[in-house]
Amino acid sequence: MAQEKKEHPADKLAYRRKVVWDCLAEGEIKEVFAFCEAYKKFLNQAKTEREVVSETVKQLREKGFLPLDSVDRLKPGDRVYWVNRHKALMAAIMGQKPLEEGLRIIGAHGDSPRLDLKQSPLFEECDIALGKTHYYGGIKKYQWLTIPLTLRGVVIKTNGEKVAVSIGDQPGEPVFTITDLLPHLAKDQMDKKLGEAIPGENLNFLAASLPLPDKEIKERFKMALLANLNETYGITEEDLISAELELVPTGTARDVGFDASLLGGYGQDDRVCVYTALQALLEIEAPEYTAMFLVMDKEEIGSTGNTGMESAFLANVVRELGFRSAENYSELTCRRALMNATALSADVNVGLDPNYSEVSDKLNAARLGGGVVLAKYTGSKGKSGTNDAHGEMVAKIRGIFNQGGVIWQTGELGKVDQGGGGTIAYMLAAYGMDVIDCGVALLSMHSPFEISSKADIYMAYKGYKAFWKE
Ligand code: MN
Ligand code: MN
Repeated sequence: MAQEKKEHPADKLAYRRKVVWDCLAEGEIKEVFAFCEAYKKFLNQAKTEREVVSETVKQLREKGFLPLDSVDRLKPGDRVYWVNRHKALMAAIMGQKPLEEGLRIIGAHGDSPRLDLKQSPLFEECDIALGKTHYYGGIKKYQWLTIPLTLRGVVIKTNGEKVAVSIGDQPGEPVFTITDLLPHLAKDQMDKKLGEAIPGENLNFLAASLPLPDKEIKERFKMALLANLNETYGITEEDLISAELELVPTGTARDVGFDASLLGGYGQDDRVCVYTALQALLEIEAPEYTAMFLVMDKEEIGSTGNTGMESAFLANVVRELGFRSAENYSELTCRRALMNATALSADVNVGLDPNYSEVSDKLNAARLGGGVVLAKYTGSKGKSGTNDAHGEMVAKIRGIFNQGGVIWQTGELGKVDQGGGGTIAYMLAAYGMDVIDCGVALLSMHSPFEISSKADIYMAYKGYKAFWKE
């Protein structure tokens, strides 16, 4: 016989984490699953930072967003976007209030860990043509061996012509792979530390193995490959020097588990936040404060470069908006717009992994299915390098989410002294705005197959929408 649980009066005073699935009506569960079908398509399309930007622009244009430089005078409700070198972008819906009263920014990143081809990648060894790579972002190298890899990217010629490359994801197309030692001969490798067992210079992928028939020709396996590339793409070896080709996991994003409630796929860090924020933005109309969406690049390598968050991109786009919208435009208008801004640094957080729960503090770690994660701080060793959102900001966002029926939870990047990491939050905060990290919890982060909960994906979308609507 079931015994009714007794509730102590103090129970009402306690903070209890929620399970999103408990809070959804049946119709809503269907909505969650439907939302994630479109998200999986986005993940399949957008496997490089360039593809993230072009897919995002496609959806923005369908909903009436115009290139910023095509609009001379901005008025409330106008929808504009600006792409930075095909790899980063800003989209905005102009608010009812003047710009200087502050923006509402959601900033995500479109780049993900991967294997970049080196500038001079091709060589031959043991009658096989291979390609050298240089990994991008923080990876555990062993995870990228012996799996099918897809090659995506562009080759840029000196005349500016761009040759698009995409091999591996269409049925029947060949894939690439990086070999690993058989266990029989891996004694020395197995004795090494995990982090040292696979040297970065060994991440060479199998590129081809048909030789030119003429045995007198030097490097006839590599030469046959160059002839093949020239025939297929009209490129020479020197053209590869200005190519940006990325090896990414082959295959599509998939439902995970008997009940299909989890979602696995490459690049969910941080495309889960890009996608959910984008869907929220597309549904916003005439917000009070200007709603701004940022998709930044190079987050995984420190947000450097002119497409990263450390660049002047945000300062420049706000000046462009100010110049086009404020009657008495001044430098101060833009400074105030940024200083008075509120921002969500939309990035993934670590989910409590049942197989490795010892790296997290269970009381404070985010759980899959616990809702969108609010992380006051990230950083490592005594919060070093983190934004550490102010209590006032945490309270404000908590209030907005509670009001909007958004199920949320707290998160932190591992237990104290375990390690850590960072996001673009502190770079946004440097402008004077209030920022908090807010995103989806993942398992197997930075692996070729990252895991999220469909419930959390949906709550991120709901949360971002509530934030922009406020
Ligand atoms: Mn990230
Ligand atoms: Mn990351």
